[in-house]
Amino acid sequence: MGLLVQKFGGSSLATPERVLRAAGRAVARFDAGDQVVVVCSAQGDWTDRLIGLAEEIHAQPSARELDMLKAVGEQMSIALMAIAIHKLGYEAISLTGPQAGIRTDSFHGKAKIRTIDTGRLRRELDGGQIVIVAGFQGVDSEDNITTIGRGGSDPTAVALAAALGAERCDIFTDVDGVYTADPRIVPDARWIRRMDYDELLELASLGARVMQSRAVELAKRFNVPFRVRSSFNESEGTLVTDLAGEIEYVDVRAAALDADQAKITIRHVPDRPGTAATIFSEIARATVNVDMIVQNVSEQGRTDVSFTVGKADLSRALSVAEELAGRLGAANVESDENVAKLSVIGIGMRSHSGVAERMFRALAAEKINIQMISTSEIKISCVIEAAGAEQALLAVHRAFELDKDESERS
Ligand code: ADP
Ligand code: ASP
Ligand code: MG
Repeated sequence: MGLLVQKFGGSSLATPERVLRAAGRAVARFDAGDQVVVVCSAQGDWTDRLIGLAEEIHAQPSARELDMLKAVGEQMSIALMAIAIHKLGYEAISLTGPQAGIRTDSFHGKAKIRTIDTGRLRRELDGGQIVIVAGFQGVDSEDNITTIGRGGSDPTAVALAAALGAERCDIFTDVDGVYTADPRIVPDARWIRRMDYDELLELASLGARVMQSRAVELAKRFNVPFRVRSSFNESEGTLVTDLAGEIEYVDVRAAALDADQAKITIRHVPDRPGTAATIFSEIARATVNVDMIVQNVSEQGRTDVSFTVGKADLSRALSVAEELAGRLGAANVESDENVAKLSVIGIGMRSHSGVAERMFRALAAEKINIQMISTSEIKISCVIEAAGAEQALLAVHRAFELDKDESERS
C-alpha cells in the first residue's frame, strides 16, 4: 500500500461532471489499495471572479482580506469533491489548508509554506478516509489565512507529497503533459515523455504556466518525482525527475513565451561606481522582482540602464525609477509594455554549443529585432516586441525541430 497525492487544477474541476470524473480517479487509486490525498484548486476562473468582486468595491483591497476571500474558491472545491466521492459510495473528508496543518509566513498573496503538521492528515488517512485538501492556502503564526501565489495549488500538492513521504504526486490538468511549447500557440508542439526538474523549473519561470515554478523547486529540493498529466484521459503524462545522471539528452527541450513583461530604461545615468547598486537596491525595496538588466557602454560619463519587470509590478517600479532618476541626475525614464520574452531551455545546452546562434538566426530570418539577451547554463532568453512574439515562438520551435520526435532531430 502506497500513499499518493493527486492535484486537480481549475479546468479539471470546472463542472459537476468534471468534479465527479476527478473523484473517480481518486476512488480508483483507493480501490487499488493506496492512501489518497486529493489537492483541489478553485473551479474554473473562480479565483479571478473573487478578486473582481473585491475590486468592484475597492481598487486596492487589503491583502489580508483579499486572502480571506480568495481562499473561498478552494474551499468550495474541496467540499464539492468530498460530496462527489460520497456519491460514489466512499468515505472522504475535506480539510482547508489551516485544518491540514499548512503553516506559512505572513506575506499575504505570496506567502511561503513553512511547515506542515501532518497529524490530522495521518489520522484521517489511517481511519480509511480519502482526504481532500484545499490548495493555495495556509495560516500564519497569528492564525490569519494566507494564500501562496497564483497557481499555488501545485506547490501545496508537492509540499504535501514531501511531508507525507508520498510515493507519487500526479498533477492533473487540461493537457496531456508538458509539451515542447504551449500547445495553444504552437499546434505542432510535441508531448515530452521525461524531463529534468531544472528544465521544467526554467520553463515554468519563463512563462509556461503548465506547472507553477515554486512547486518544481520544492519537488527538486525534496526529491519528489511527479507526473503532469491529463484529467480527461488515461495518457501517462510527463514524468519529471532528476535526469542529470543520464548520458544522452537533447540540447533544446522546449521553448516558452512570457508576455507578462515590461521594460524600463533610465536614460543618461551618471556612470560611476555604486549607481547600479543604488538603483537595484531601491527597486528591490519596493518588492519588485527584476529579471533582465542591460547597461550600455558609457559615453561622456553617462549610460542607459534597462531592465525588465513583471507587468503587475510596472507602476511600482516606475515610480521608484522616476524618483531615482531625479536623485541621480539622469535624463529621463521610459517604459515599454509592448515586449515579450522568448526562451529556449534544455540541460543538454551544458554540453552543446551553437544554440544561441541557431536561435538568433531563426529570429533574424523572421526580421525580429532582439532588444535584450540573457543566458544561463540551460537557457537563452531574448526580449522582443510583443506584436511578433507568437510568430517568433513558432519560428524558433521549428528551427530547433521541436516539432519532430527527439530521435529524428538533426
Ligand atoms: P491548471 O488549471 O490545471 O493548473 P493551467 O491552466 O495552470 O492548468 O496550466 C495548463 C495550461 O498550461 C495548458 O492548458 C497550456 O495552455 C499551458 N501551457 C503553457 N506552456 C505549456 C507547455 N510547454 N506544455 C503544456 N502546457 C503548457
Ligand atoms: N486558484 C488559484 C489560482 O487561480 C490556485 C491554483 O489554481 O493553483 O491561482
Ligand atoms: Mg496551474
